[in-house]
Amino acid sequence: MFEKAKEIINSSKDIYIVGHINPDGDSIGSAFALYYSLKELGKNVNVIMKKHSDSFSFLPGIENIVDHVDKNEYDLLICVDSSQKSRLDISDEDFNKAKHTILIDHHRKAETEDNNYCNLCFVDVNLPAACQIVYNFIKKLNLPFNINSATYIYTGLMTDTGSFNYSSTTPETLRIAADLVEMGVDFAGICQKLNDTIKEEKLRLIAYSIDNMESIFDGKVRYVYVSYEKIKSLNLDEEDAEGVTNYLRKVKGTEVAIYVRGRSDGTNKVSLRSAGLVDVSKIAISFGGGGHQRAAGYTMYEEINVEKERLLNMIEVMLK
Ligand code: 5GP
Ligand code: MN
Repeated sequence: MFEKAKEIINSSKDIYIVGHINPDGDSIGSAFALYYSLKELGKNVNVIMKKHSDSFSFLPGIENIVDHVDKNEYDLLICVDSSQKSRLDISDEDFNKAKHTILIDHHRKAETEDNNYCNLCFVDVNLPAACQIVYNFIKKLNLPFNINSATYIYTGLMTDTGSFNYSSTTPETLRIAADLVEMGVDFAGICQKLNDTIKEEKLRLIAYSIDNMESIFDGKVRYVYVSYEKIKSLNLDEEDAEGVTNYLRKVKGTEVAIYVRGRSDGTNKVSLRSAGLVDVSKIAISFGGGGHQRAAGYTMYEEINVEKERLLNMIEVMLK
């Protein structure tokens, strides 16, 4: 399969790379690590991304994103960090213009779901970050690997493993991180920018969320809902509203942390975190989303209280 991928890349000139909507460090890291590698190989390569949180603005060359394909056809589309075609940050029309498609991902998916939506799929649900698969992919194919690619791979590994603390971290994750540090990646700078810097408005959102946190099922579940109006009133955008779930998760006794926030289109985005007893990917998948055993998410389309009850009913059963 690696040979086939190498063949496709060698014969491609125009390449696009796309991650998921609301991109996180792993989606951005996977896309730009490949971008810098393929650029050095002499390809005409672009990353499609409509928007990202300002916190990623310090990353090298991230301003070069494009929001669509400006050609009638192109050679190759590489999709990263999404098990669902519908969650990619690209229109079906632009997706269909690609002659070849490659997927690099690490998400669990529903049995019924077709995550082989690309011609060649490199999927390993046991790895903590798509960036780890991208790194292996680049090395296996002997593609160029420069300091910019290294910086992006490190970013994805760090963000998706909770700074190498989640149980999903593998010895190989740490070995790769060590190699990247040896190459000169500014790991302390990345950590400072992404883990230790917060906008005042965001801190106020966290304060509001904690003030409004509900404790359910004897504290085994912690639930917070923040409306889109509230997010706007705090001068924040949708993509700034991420990351509250991790605070709820820390509260002693919590098995499942739920953070629901409103979006501009009227739907609500749910983030789930588990301490280990409940496989939250199963919950998210059953509601049309996805993710991992301990971190997953989906979109609520119906009225918030109806959706909340549905979710809590399912968790109550799973807690037993
Ligand atoms: P977060 O809560 O940080 O947004 O996401 C946690 C994990 O669940 C991530 O791996 C993310 O990619 C996945 N995830 C979140 N929302 C969705 C969704 O709507 N669909 C799918 N397939 N995965 C999601
Ligand atoms: Mn990921």
